[in-house]
Amino acid sequence: MLWKIPRDGLDAPGVRAYPPRMPADPVLRVAVPAPLRHTLDYLPPADADAALLAAGMRVVVPLGARRVLGVIVAIRARSELEPVKLRRAFALPDREPVLPAELLRLCLFAARYYHAPPGEVVVNTLPVALRSLRATGARSTRRWRLGAAAGGLGPHALANAPRRAAALEFLRQRGVASDAELRAAGITSATVRALAASALVEHLPDDGSRAVVAPELPATGGATSVPASRATAPGLNTAQQVALDALDAARGAYACLLLEGVTGSGKTEVYLRFIECVLQANRQALVLVPEIGLTPQTRQRFEERFGGVVAVLHSGLGDRERLEAWRRAADGSARVLIGTRSALFSPLPELGAIVVDEEHDASFKQHEGFRYSARDLAIVRAQQRQVPIVLGSATPSTESLANCAAGRFRHLLLPERAGAASPPSLRLLDVRGQPLDGGMCPELTARIGAELAAGKQTLVFLNRRGWAPLLSCADCGWMAECRDCDARLTLHRAERQLCCHHCERRQPVPATCPHCRSARLLALGAGTERAEHTLQRLFPSIPILRIDRGTMQARDAMERLVHEVGRGEPCILVGTQMLAKGHHFPRVTLVAILDLDGGLFSADFRAAERTGQLLVQVAGRAGRAELPGEVLVQTFHPGHPWLQRLLAGGYTAFVGPLLEERRARGLPPYAHLAIVGAEGRSEAATLRLLQELREALRRTHPAVEAIGPLPATRPRRAGLHRVQLLLRHAHRAPLHAALDAACTQLESHRGTGVVRWHIDVDPQDGA
Ligand code: ADP
Ligand code: ZN
Ligand code: ZN
Repeated sequence: MLWKIPRDGLDAPGVRAYPPRMPADPVLRVAVPAPLRHTLDYLPPADADAALLAAGMRVVVPLGARRVLGVIVAIRARSELEPVKLRRAFALPDREPVLPAELLRLCLFAARYYHAPPGEVVVNTLPVALRSLRATGARSTRRWRLGAAAGGLGPHALANAPRRAAALEFLRQRGVASDAELRAAGITSATVRALAASALVEHLPDDGSRAVVAPELPATGGATSVPASRATAPGLNTAQQVALDALDAARGAYACLLLEGVTGSGKTEVYLRFIECVLQANRQALVLVPEIGLTPQTRQRFEERFGGVVAVLHSGLGDRERLEAWRRAADGSARVLIGTRSALFSPLPELGAIVVDEEHDASFKQHEGFRYSARDLAIVRAQQRQVPIVLGSATPSTESLANCAAGRFRHLLLPERAGAASPPSLRLLDVRGQPLDGGMCPELTARIGAELAAGKQTLVFLNRRGWAPLLSCADCGWMAECRDCDARLTLHRAERQLCCHHCERRQPVPATCPHCRSARLLALGAGTERAEHTLQRLFPSIPILRIDRGTMQARDAMERLVHEVGRGEPCILVGTQMLAKGHHFPRVTLVAILDLDGGLFSADFRAAERTGQLLVQVAGRAGRAELPGEVLVQTFHPGHPWLQRLLAGGYTAFVGPLLEERRARGLPPYAHLAIVGAEGRSEAATLRLLQELREALRRTHPAVEAIGPLPATRPRRAGLHRVQLLLRHAHRAPLHAALDAACTQLESHRGTGVVRWHIDVDPQDGA
C-alpha cells in the first residue's frame, strides 16, 4: 500500500474536487512561509500541465517582492479573489507531492488548533534540504532519456498531444538530453513531467545530489526484512504480557493506551514486542522519544532488535542525513522510525502504530515559533490514520491520567520492576544547619565514599550547570546580573566566564566588584562544575564523569560515557536532568539528589508535577539490576508535603491529590488555557497591545476569562520586554473562538510592527 494522493488535494470541507476538464486555469491554494494565518491563491505557472498538479507539491511563488517556496495545500476551480488580483506561480519543482495528503491534513489541523501560520507549519515539516529555493534549483541538472513505456507506443498514440510527441521524437534522436537542452528546444518541464508520469521518459539515476523525495520508489511489500532476534529478548512477565496483549488487540483501529510502569519495569521491552507484531503485519511504526542523543541505549536496543529497517531522526543530524531518513520513511524502506519531536511529521505510508516514550517529558512541546505538542499531535495523527498509540511513562502527565479517568485512554500498568531488580529506597537528608561542600552535606559524601569502597557506582544529580549560580560582592552586595534579562549570571570557572543561561550572553569574570572595587567576590551556591571539583578532591582516584550541556556537546559524548560507565568500574556521575532520561546503568546503586527545593516553591502551578516527575525519574536510575538501590534527597524542607507524599507512596500517591487540586482550582487538565504573548523593546507598547486585546475579548467573548496582561515568567529576555495575556475556559471550543478573534485583531493592529506576538495553546510553562 503506497500513497494514493487525490489529485484534488484534501478532503476537507469546502475543497471541491477538481473537475477533469477545466476550461480556465485552476487555482493553487498555497501555504507560504510567512506569518499569515491563511493560505494564498495563485495561478499555476504558465507552462504547468493542469493534469499533473497535486496538493503536497512545492511551488515557487511571488510574495510581495520576494520569491518563496510554498506548498500547495489544495487545488480549486476558482478563487474568491478577483481574477486580476491572482498572481501566477513561477515554478513547480516537483513532479509528485513531497508531502502526502495525510501529512497535509495533520499540518492544517495543527495550524488551526495552535493558531499558527499554515505556511510556517507546512514548511516546518519538510526536511531543511527541501525547504530552500536553492534545493529546487538542483533539479535543473537532470538528464532525460526514453522510458520503459516508450517502446510499446504506437505511431499515432500521441496524435492529440503534439507537444509530447515532439518531445519524445527529440529524445529519440538525441538519446539523452538535460533539462536545459530540452528547454532550449522549446520543450517545457510540464511536458516532460507529463511524459515521465506515464513512464514514456525517465531521468538518469546519476544525480544523487538532487532533492527528490517523491514517494515514487517501489513499495517494499514489507515482508522483505523483519528480523526478530528473539535470542536477546527476555521472556515477558505477567504484567508485560497483559499489556502486550492489550496493545496487540488494539491494532487496526485508533486507540490510545497509557502504559504506566515504574522505572525499570520493562516498558521498552513491551514496545519492542508490540512493534514486532506491527512489522509482521507489514506496517511501519513511529517511536517518539524526548532526546535521542541523550539515550543512545534506547536507540541501540531498537537497532539490535530490528536491524537495518530502523531509521533515526533527531536534531543532531545533518541536513543530508535527515533527508535520507525522511526518504526511507516515505518509501517504506524504514519500517521503524525513531525520532524526537519533529519526527512526528515524517511520511509513513504504512503506519501501523505510534509509541511516545516518556510522554510526560516537557521536550515534546516546542517552545518557540510553531508551539506544538508532539505528543498531542501524535494522538491526532493516530486518530486520523486509525492506528493505536501507546504513551509510556513511569510518571504520567496529569493530562494523560485525567484522560484515563475520563475513559478516553486505556490505562495499562506495570507495577513492578522487571527481572531481579527491586525498587530503590528513598530517604531525605535534612541539610539545615549543615556545612555544604560543593553542595553536599557530610553524611552524603560519607555514603558516596562507602559505596565506592564497595566497588559500586554513584550518580549525583544537580539541575544547575556551571560552577556557581551567583557571583556576589562580600562588601557591597553587588550581584552579577544579565544586562538583557531578568536573570543572574552563572559563573563558569573553567572558561573564566559569566554566562546567562537565558540568552547565552557571555562576559569575562571581573577581578574586582564593578560597584565598589572590592576584590572580595564570592561564588555562592554550587553547580555541576563545582560538585565535580569537590568530588574529585574527596575521591582523587575515582573517575568523575560530568554530564551537562557543557560536556555533552560532542555528538557521541553520551555514547562514550555510557560505554565508560558500562565497564562497571567504580565511578561517580555528576549531572543535570540529562541524567534523568531513561538511562540504564546496572551498577549505579546510589543516587544523590542535591537540590530540588527550587521546584517546591515555584509560582508555576505545574511545578509540583515537574518536581515529582524529576525526582522519581532520577531516583529510577538507582538499582536497575540485581544490586539494590538507594536514593538520598538533600533538602532544607524535609517536612514539605510533596516530599512526604512521594516518600510515603511514590508517584501515584503524589499525583492523586495534585489532580484534585487542579480540579478544585479550575486548572488543566480540567480547564483549557492559552497564552497570547507579546514582546517588544517598548514595555508600554507591548502592554498596550495586550490591554487592547483584553478589552476587545471581554466585549466579544465575555465567557472566556482573560487574565493579565502580566509579565512573563522571565519578564525580560535578550533585551525584550515580555508580557502575556492568559485565556481560560472550561471547554476548548469557546477558547479557540476567542483565539480566532485575537488573531484577527492582532493581525490588523497597527502597532504590531514593533511588538511581536504569538499564541501558545495548552502552554506548558509560564502560565
Ligand atoms: P523501562 O523501559 O520500563 O525503564 P526496560 O524495558 O528498559 O524498562 O527494562 C529494564 C531492564 O529490565 C532492561 O535491562 C531489560 O532488558 C530488563 N527486562 C525487561 N523485561 C524483562 C523481563 N521480562 N525479564 C527480565 N528482564 C527484563
Ligand atoms: Zn562591591
Ligand atoms: Zn541574558
